[in-house]
Amino acid sequence: MTGLSVAVIGAGAVGAATAFTLAREGHRVTLIEPGEPGGEQAASFGNACWISPASVVPMSLPGVWRKVPGWLADPLGPLTIRWRHLPGLAPWLVRFLRAGSSEAKVERTARALRTLLHDAVERHEALAAAAGVAELVVRSGHLYAFRDRAAFEAEALAWRLRREAGVRWIELPAEELHQREPALTRDCRFAVLLEDGAHVADPGAYIAALASAALSLGAIHRRTRATGFDVKGGRLQAVLTAEGRVAADRAVIAAGAHARHLAAAVGDRVPLESERGYHIVIEAPEASVRTPVMVADAKAPLTPTAHGLRVAGQVELASIEAEPDWRRAEVLLALARRMLPGLPADLPPGRVRRWMGHRPSIADGLPVIGPASGCADVVHAFGHGHVGLAASAKTAALAADLALGRQPVIDPAPYAASRFG
Ligand SMILES: Cc1cc2nc3c(=O)[nH]c(=O)nc-3n(C[C@H](O)[C@H](O)[C@H](O)COP(=O)(O)OP(=O)(O)OC[C@H]3O[C@@H](n4cnc5c(N)ncnc54)[C@H](O)[C@@H]3O)c2cc1C
Repeated sequence: MTGLSVAVIGAGAVGAATAFTLAREGHRVTLIEPGEPGGEQAASFGNACWISPASVVPMSLPGVWRKVPGWLADPLGPLTIRWRHLPGLAPWLVRFLRAGSSEAKVERTARALRTLLHDAVERHEALAAAAGVAELVVRSGHLYAFRDRAAFEAEALAWRLRREAGVRWIELPAEELHQREPALTRDCRFAVLLEDGAHVADPGAYIAALASAALSLGAIHRRTRATGFDVKGGRLQAVLTAEGRVAADRAVIAAGAHARHLAAAVGDRVPLESERGYHIVIEAPEASVRTPVMVADAKAPLTPTAHGLRVAGQVELASIEAEPDWRRAEVLLALARRMLPGLPADLPPGRVRRWMGHRPSIADGLPVIGPASGCADVVHAFGHGHVGLAASAKTAALAADLALGRQPVIDPAPYAASRFG
């Protein structure tokens, strides 16, 4: 086999898509990942499954700082900060709040997210087809369900950002909504339908398929953790792992929420934290949705998946090592019951699966993608926060271009690690 040897660190959505992209081009890929590609250890396993070109609205918006006391006070609210971890999180939090301090800043962030997301559905369809799992990417459209039209209008800035990003939607009055989604609570009297959205029916299986397609093209899986890099004269010699060296011409850091120390090892200090999130999956639900539905007031989607109804969401800021707070999964279950009154109150615990994972979140709402400042042979590709499943396909294309030193598919400047000085 010819081509360069490229070590891809991490086999979540970003790493698996990058490994497959490089392997298809004939490069010698080593996937360094201690777990199973697509396994439960990765955020890519447990997300809400949405591939949404509309996910351009950053979490930090003007006025968001007013909500911080509430985040600290309510341990079970949609966004919470665990007090004990506040001192460690403070620098990230300050940057996060600053990123949303003006409309001009969030417009810039939305434009950079749009670049990564506008063709996400087509790119994932192409990747899934090439990996032999075309059926896992479903062009379902997305619904955003509101109590009433006033609740939709209260989100004017978010919908303006989407409109400016080229996102189109159709307004659905109550009657049409309930015709489309008969199981949904009648308390939702207004919705918007985004026909361009898609979802992945089984994200774990999708990531596993991308990784296994890379392996079938000659990539190797080293089941270990990367710990650093051997760089001589500015050139990469090897990736260091818990079980020895992996010689490589290039490396891509796709270790999600765990990437901070690896990035620092090649000269970049980045404000990366875990935004912990949860999901529940109700197997064989008595009531479900036909189209993925975002419950606007809870900021949590209901998604029909291969394994049942998935409700994913919640943002919990704490340390990456902190124990899960499973009461948050109960909040999601209560939300499912509120939205789908046909679900029984006494679901047997064996039919409800729970999961907690780590969104890799950079304080300013954009990922870090680009050559490392200490060694251009190492490419960063992490920090996609709430949109990493959707953005993984474009990120893989960009990371591959940067690793191979050719004209990048998009301008990488907005994602450069150097923006943090
Ligand atoms: C509740 C929830 C809902 C979400 N909903 C959506 C959604 O609907 N749509 C969307 O687009 N995004 C969503 N996201 C975000 C999305 O899941 C993430 O942004 C994305 O999965 C990140 O992918 P990744 O490959 O960067 O990281 P991960 O999927 O976390 O993968 C990183 C991998 O790196 C490995 N690793 C870590 N350290 C090392 C090391 N030192 N050496 C080697 N390997 C290492 C890990 O084992 C892991 O397998 C959601 C996230 C959560 C938590």
